[in-house]
Amino acid sequence: MTTPITIPAPPKVGMVSLGCPKALVDSERILTKLRAEGYQMSADYAGADVVLVNTCGFLDSAKEESLEAIGEAMAENGRVIVTGCMGNEADVIRARFPDVLAVTGAHQYEDVVQAVHDAAPPARGAFIDLVPEGGIKLTPRHYSYLKISEGCNHRCSFCIIPSLRGDLVSRRIDAVLREAEKLVAAGTRELLVISQDTSAYGVDTRHEPRDWKGRPVRAHMTDLARELGGLRTPEGKAPWVRLHYVYPYPHVDHVIPLMAEGLLTPYLDIPFQHAAPAVLKRMKRPANEAKVLDRIKAWRTIAPDITIRSSFVVGFPGETEADFQYLLDWLDEAQLDRVGGFRFEPVEGAAANDLSDPVPEEVKEERYQRLMEKTAAISAAKLAAKVGRTLPVIIDEVGEPDEEDGSVGATGRSQADAPEIDGHVYLRDVPEGLAPGSFVDVLVEDADEHDLYGVIAPGA
Ligand code: SF4
Repeated sequence: MTTPITIPAPPKVGMVSLGCPKALVDSERILTKLRAEGYQMSADYAGADVVLVNTCGFLDSAKEESLEAIGEAMAENGRVIVTGCMGNEADVIRARFPDVLAVTGAHQYEDVVQAVHDAAPPARGAFIDLVPEGGIKLTPRHYSYLKISEGCNHRCSFCIIPSLRGDLVSRRIDAVLREAEKLVAAGTRELLVISQDTSAYGVDTRHEPRDWKGRPVRAHMTDLARELGGLRTPEGKAPWVRLHYVYPYPHVDHVIPLMAEGLLTPYLDIPFQHAAPAVLKRMKRPANEAKVLDRIKAWRTIAPDITIRSSFVVGFPGETEADFQYLLDWLDEAQLDRVGGFRFEPVEGAAANDLSDPVPEEVKEERYQRLMEKTAAISAAKLAAKVGRTLPVIIDEVGEPDEEDGSVGATGRSQADAPEIDGHVYLRDVPEGLAPGSFVDVLVEDADEHDLYGVIAPGA
């Protein structure tokens, strides 16, 4: 007689992920680990044995959003573990929600997993490999964030990331490349390289080389970019590879030829934050050097299609009207393709809070509006110049057939558009079977301030 084996139902974990793409990568790692241990994911609060809230603690507004998310999870489920950047402020969280089960800080994966074990022990005998190839992904399957390091060696006066996350710790290059290779084999067609300071990758390990496919490869941005550019999807296509959070150190010049060679997507995300030397000095920004405009011009000669995205802060303490005007004039010269603007907001614990000469709110607002007007005009002119061209586009979403004429539309992005932060390419009359993640050549028919409109190029 055989004794029936009862496999206990696996515990279910709910996850709320707030904050930046880096926090999303952390959430993915935690979920991958938990799935490997036999946990299941719950899509709602009610079905979860425990809920993880991955918080953001960067700006005060983000903290408030994190506290609201914790409050919602407490009200809906009541068994809540808090992790992420705001986990470093356990006392604030516990004062408001004394019954949270555990609070752990950013990147304390083992602690989070242990807290989940304590709250909902893993089912014994989970012998099936529950982790899909490439891990659990919260981003759509065709693009993935690839985190290459944690922490930062700089001390920008408005930023508390180094005190939250510590100094730069780079991942091994072979581990990064292995992860990228798996992601691409599992369907990723666009890799987004992220960190706090991508151009500093490997500085902490003196760019230690590791063996990769029988060759030594250094932990260095240029080697990384070259290797990522050599990956191929199962269909034999080169994935798009974007570099985010790059500071304009001199060695950045060496990745531009890789764009011209087609190994790297011609796109650089460089958070300049300002242009006026006096403001940059008070911000304590890295790689703050005068020749940046000349270098941008040189980059455009080598890779004429390069898109440069950046972000700028207005109303930083001590910013004068002349400093702000300097920034506007600099933008006229630099002609950056994509710009995000922020009004300076003090962050608890940041050195900039003690700086003299705060800028009044109404002046901040007025400068913000002028910055956005200027950058929108530059963007509109740059996009208008693309009308009539045929550009490669990656498809993000395909719509339902129109009820009247059956036509199908799709949303995609050109190489100039990173997901979630830049513009879109809206397509009309695409084939019904077009799959998200496909690469298509698009004839651009129209443009506005942020987006392009077009059709799949005839004969493509
Ligand atoms: S470079 Fe500056 S802004 Fe960026 S994480 Fe480091 S300290 Fe913060």
